[in-house]
Amino acid sequence: MLAFEPNEYPDLIELDSLQLRVIVDNEIDHMSAGPAYKSGQAQELYRDPRNRDPVKSKPGSGSCGCGDHDHGSDDTRVDTVAFDFEDLVVAGHGLSMLCIGVKDGKEHRVLFDTGPTPSLYRANARRLEVDHAKIEAIVLSHWHIDHSGGMLEAVKSCTEARRHQPIDPVVVDLHPDRPDQRGACLKRPTPEDDRYEYVAWGADPTLHALEKEGAKIALNDKAHTLCEGYFGVSGEIPRRTSYETGLPSHSRWFAAEGCWKDEQEIMDERYLVARVKDRGLVVLSGCSHAGIVNVCQDVHNAFKTPASSSSSSSSSEIKSNHIALVAGGFHLAGGHFEARIPDTVRDLQEIGPELLAPGHCSGWKARAACDDAMPGRVVSLGGGSVYTIAPFPK
Ligand SMILES: [Zn+2]
Ligand SMILES: [Zn+2]
Repeated sequence: MLAFEPNEYPDLIELDSLQLRVIVDNEIDHMSAGPAYKSGQAQELYRDPRNRDPVKSKPGSGSCGCGDHDHGSDDTRVDTVAFDFEDLVVAGHGLSMLCIGVKDGKEHRVLFDTGPTPSLYRANARRLEVDHAKIEAIVLSHWHIDHSGGMLEAVKSCTEARRHQPIDPVVVDLHPDRPDQRGACLKRPTPEDDRYEYVAWGADPTLHALEKEGAKIALNDKAHTLCEGYFGVSGEIPRRTSYETGLPSHSRWFAAEGCWKDEQEIMDERYLVARVKDRGLVVLSGCSHAGIVNVCQDVHNAFKTPASSSSSSSSSEIKSNHIALVAGGFHLAGGHFEARIPDTVRDLQEIGPELLAPGHCSGWKARAACDDAMPGRVVSLGGGSVYTIAPFPK
């Protein structure tokens, strides 16, 4: 087994609150209820006074209280919202989440992944009215196009939003090992047929292209923090479980040599972590090619000793490594990966995240298995979901 350096985050501070806004996910679910701290874009649109329909609304005199006739036909106050389905976030194969951390009234924002295409990122960011002037950093979980495909567009939007404001350029935080291209081996030679077949996924944006659009590149392959310690980004994720063995068909194109090579492990993958007062840790994992149990175990290990600084929680009710929410792609969809579901669910139960949001490449079977084993703790990560993690009201 490979030796891994443990990920550590001594500078990670404890936030007063963290909000996650899902810009892109494989699915949308604008209807399912979640815990009280989960909301959604549809509910926000209902409440937005800009959507009030003036024709179908009237102030009323307040005189009616009978309740036994159709409202709107007398002096009863009527509020009607005009709902345009063009305003709703749509789904696409990929992931992008906006993270808004708050401490002592001060806010920092980072974007975690950017979805698969420029057009989807642009359309959903517009629908969610993402303020790109406030995004300080874009963190790429790993070099796969369903996470990096919208990155040039996101950087462009950040640069454009800064055009007339004295704001630092957006930082793009990347693992230095950018591949020429990646894909999958669909077929290997057999006695009957000596051909290989590959599928090539789109190439990730180059560092040069990102800089040209105004990004400040930060290359990191070790655990570190961003934005005054609001967010932690891992280094390589230790592979410890026996069953989380990467992507067997995954391949990497080497342009200089003009050939594909096997690349079962995607070692450039990183996760994002934040800590919220009285609630615990929030973990975002892009695709979990390292395995979602390996991700959660690494977080558990990194925070097993309570922080001794003044930034640590005054509450002793939760353990220092309690995971309040783990969200993102668990990569358990598809025949080969579905065999890993029972082991994954058993070990996730043992780790005990308070809430799980298996989205993107998790697949419905994994989500159903998690829901069976941990009823009430599995929620949708669908596009437009809004999670606000903050201390519960006393
Ligand atoms: Zn991936
Ligand atoms: Zn992915």
